[in-house]
Amino acid sequence: MREEINAEMVILARESRGMTQAALARAMNVQQGTVSKIEAGLQNPSEEMIEKLARTLRYPRAFFYQDDRVHGFGSSVFYHRKRQSLPQSVLRKLHADMNIRRFHIERLLRSAAIEASFSFHAYDVADFGGSVEDVAQLVRADWKLPPGPVRNVTEAIESAGGVVVRCDFGTRKIDAISEWVSTCPPIFFINANTAITGDRLRFNLAHELGHIILHQGGGGPNIEEEADRFASEFLMPGAEIKTSLHRLNIPKLASLKQYWKVSMQALVMRAYRLKTITEAQMRYLFIQFSQAGYRMREPEELDIPVEKPTLLKMMIDAHANELGYSAADLGRILNLEEDEFRDLYTERSLRLLRG
Ligand SMILES: [Zn+2]
Repeated sequence: MREEINAEMVILARESRGMTQAALARAMNVQQGTVSKIEAGLQNPSEEMIEKLARTLRYPRAFFYQDDRVHGFGSSVFYHRKRQSLPQSVLRKLHADMNIRRFHIERLLRSAAIEASFSFHAYDVADFGGSVEDVAQLVRADWKLPPGPVRNVTEAIESAGGVVVRCDFGTRKIDAISEWVSTCPPIFFINANTAITGDRLRFNLAHELGHIILHQGGGGPNIEEEADRFASEFLMPGAEIKTSLHRLNIPKLASLKQYWKVSMQALVMRAYRLKTITEAQMRYLFIQFSQAGYRMREPEELDIPVEKPTLLKMMIDAHANELGYSAADLGRILNLEEDEFRDLYTERSLRLLRG
């Protein structure tokens, strides 16, 4: 552990609690200049001040001594946020939360290594003549996915060692974010704040997978469209689905939805892109969706089950059951207070709750 606190961790802790410097100073009953100087690394806080920070921000003291690298948002988030015009306060909290969650995963990985059957490779779409679809096919092949629908996207990602984490983004404007930094496997953050349908979750994960595979170098101005194309081909390979996308109507779309586990709207878009329906036919189907209220919510009886991540839970369970960690021990290695550890990682059912 460092001897002095890491000023960056003070910023991260504060932003993860959605506080401004002024609010933190008020809560600690100190001048804002004091907080500002601590965060700028200009002032080494006294023991008493560190204690105050820890109490006010609800992190154990060790949190402030972490020397992990804080990463900025990747390019996918840059484009998401441009599209969705998120307030700075929301972005700051999201940024802090993503970094903190990554620290947790890195710490858990120290004693519970992931035994992945497959792996992630970044590809440059320029090497494929711009065919995002070829890259999506290659990933399906890398991961030995059989032809037809992807049975479980979350499972496919996790079997390649990717970690899927549900967390509250504090906004409903973004469904998912992903990041891949060198110290950690790719992480897929799913917004627990939205009541997402199973088909939308799958599409979002496949979209983020597209960013992870294609846009590690940053990518160009079309990265959102590329990620969507990647997701479409990954979930609905053109060569396999094309013949079923003729003469579409709602009952046919409903049964295709059940088979491919994608939304009816995604199927219509796919059909249009594969040129099995005309633009007029696409428009007509979308009018029918609107009239039935399906643009907002497709009928419940057609819902696709919501996939649940298991890898992170397995890592926690391995610590609890095989390594004998208590919830307090786990809180300690993750630099969380025990209550917050339970909130974030024990789903009320885990053995830890009783232990
Ligand atoms: Zn995106």
